[in-house]
Amino acid sequence: MSKMEVKTSLLDNMIGVGDMVLIEPLSEDTFIENLKKRFDHNEIYTYIGSVVISMNPYKSLPIYTAEKVEEYRNRNFYELSPHIYALADEAYRSLREQDNDQCILITGESGAGKTEASKFVMSYVAAVCGKGQEVNKVKEQLLQSNPVLEAFGNAKTVRNDNSSRFGKYMDIEFDFKGDPLGGVISNYLLEKSRVVKQPRGERNFHIFYQLLSGASDDTLKKLKLDRDFSKYNYLSLDSATVNGLDDAASFRTVRRMDVAGFNSEDYFLLLVAAVLKLGNIEFKPESRCNGYDESRVKDKNDLKEMCELLGIEQSVLERAFSFRTVEAKMEKVSTTLNVAQAYYARDALAKNLYSRLFSWLVNRINESIKAQTKTRKKVMGVLDIYGFEIFEENSFEQFIINYCNEKLQQIFIELTLREEQEEYVREDIEWTNIEYFNNAIICDLIENNKNGILAMLDEECLRPGTVTDETFLDKLNTVCAEHQHFESRQSKNSKFLTDHSLPHNCFRIQHYAGKVLYRAEGFVDKNNDLLYRDLSQAMYKANHSLIKILFPEGNPAKVNLKRPPTAGFQFRASVGTLMKNLLTKNPNYIRCIKPNDKKAAHIFTDSLVCHQVRYLGLMENVRVRRAGYAFRQAYDPCLERYKMLCKQTWPHWKGPARLGVEVLLTDLQVPAEEFAYGRSKIFIRNPRTLFFLEEKRSRC
Ligand code: ADP
Ligand code: MG
Repeated sequence: MSKMEVKTSLLDNMIGVGDMVLIEPLSEDTFIENLKKRFDHNEIYTYIGSVVISMNPYKSLPIYTAEKVEEYRNRNFYELSPHIYALADEAYRSLREQDNDQCILITGESGAGKTEASKFVMSYVAAVCGKGQEVNKVKEQLLQSNPVLEAFGNAKTVRNDNSSRFGKYMDIEFDFKGDPLGGVISNYLLEKSRVVKQPRGERNFHIFYQLLSGASDDTLKKLKLDRDFSKYNYLSLDSATVNGLDDAASFRTVRRMDVAGFNSEDYFLLLVAAVLKLGNIEFKPESRCNGYDESRVKDKNDLKEMCELLGIEQSVLERAFSFRTVEAKMEKVSTTLNVAQAYYARDALAKNLYSRLFSWLVNRINESIKAQTKTRKKVMGVLDIYGFEIFEENSFEQFIINYCNEKLQQIFIELTLREEQEEYVREDIEWTNIEYFNNAIICDLIENNKNGILAMLDEECLRPGTVTDETFLDKLNTVCAEHQHFESRQSKNSKFLTDHSLPHNCFRIQHYAGKVLYRAEGFVDKNNDLLYRDLSQAMYKANHSLIKILFPEGNPAKVNLKRPPTAGFQFRASVGTLMKNLLTKNPNYIRCIKPNDKKAAHIFTDSLVCHQVRYLGLMENVRVRRAGYAFRQAYDPCLERYKMLCKQTWPHWKGPARLGVEVLLTDLQVPAEEFAYGRSKIFIRNPRTLFFLEEKRSRC
């Protein structure tokens, strides 16, 4: 796709400019002013070259109709006003006609509209690709996966009533004609801590409330559940019902989906019920003669019911809540758990049960949407993942998410520049080097195998002896901070910031999007993600095939003394795979912005938008797009548009269009360094030149 083919719709001053590349002068203020002007006119989409910025309108706009789909179908990107459909159309056509695999990268903070955007892209593609019974079935299955994933992976949060608490990447596969064949979904980093505890004003995952509100009396009886939310420790009562969310209706929708086999089997609802039961198991101390407190299950009814649901012998699970066996070499040592440790073990089991069920569900969906053919496929990937997060308190989760965004920024730069470079080569134009900030050193600081932060965290987690968040932080400070004095400013350690204003137990990283202060508390624990072996073994003994599958490490025949990979290690590996995958595709970017913190229409909070513009790196984005040549346009339409500005080209130019453009620009005395002649296009360096031409034209 060419970077900039100018059309009047992009230059309409009343509603702001449709492409940020055209803003003159460019500053953060003019950038935000332009977004605001457009937002006030319900123009929620704006381009930065081929990147689409999307502002959440928080109200339904009549811009996703079948007519709109027809309007954008098979049109050039810059022909109509900016729209997410233009991007979807461009990506789909390029996939079908030029055989380029595509990926759609959607980023932005929670509530900014990423998931909605991914659904608009999917439904647009579904509307324009292929027809016929078989194809329609595939489309339906692909679209059906959403409500199921949202039931299990989304929750009401302060920022978003339907917030996705996992990252999602979906490859949609097509045949050579562009008809859909199937898809593959990958999930990243489900926020499993939510299963056992929710921040104030937030809920647990939707499925719990849906099940209790929507299931029949019969089903609930089978699951030994009570309809009353307040009976369950794991369900916060703060906001048990949410305006605009109909849990019972959603449950019926989820139940109808055959995509995950919901309507035929109930057995994973058993697991959902088991998690609720697990949360109700409580412990009390029992004093022992040696002075230690040992934990005992307080009221055994919930334990009993949970064991009945899963087919586990009660005494086995009960024991696993009181003792922990540590195996080393040939030795087995059994130690007792105190009450706090028993609660920790219970919550770890609940989190693992739920998150493994979620991954299993994703696999199950994948089975049913899998392409039924082995022929070569064309692929469109859609990535819906949390944007950069800077909160007041940033912990392991933010660290991991920001690392992923740092990687995405890296491929953004790499691919944008590559696309530029390739076009210059194609057009035979001399490559002008673009100065940009390369964030590779920040990625290295985090992911380097030897002394990156994740590696040091792993090393610390695996070290024998007392390991705490403090010892981890000490190690970081020693390795990263001390070397700084000896290394150049461009070393990765220069991105690890130390100064005397650092609060206790914190470290600070200079990310591409800004400085972030991380609190080390909880890093070791979250990275370890420890589930005592006694519990996984108890689960494995369940008389329930799915539970056995979910806890393979509990198989006594396969006792593995090696530690399972840490959370950080697993995430780094899956980010690596994702990046490799994305690098083979042609990227399309959607950057989502949230206009206010109130989930309200018509309110545009400048400071909030400014914050997002900064950490999405949008200014840098415009700069890269404007570096070199800001515009390019094929000779024919260029001559057509401006030929009235010169006697020699008006009203008809007989020769080749390229020569006509040359005559025109010379006649207008546009300085030679302002443009370059490509094979098929004219390249214009500065937006000012374009305005000059447009202004002359409007005075004609
Ligand atoms: P994210 O995935 O970025 O956290 P969502 O896509 O879930 O955010 O959007 C949050 C809410 O904002 C949606 O539930 C919807 O109410 C509203 N919203 C987002 N995008 C649009 C849109 N294009 N038109 C109308 N409402 C939208
Ligand atoms: Mg979302």
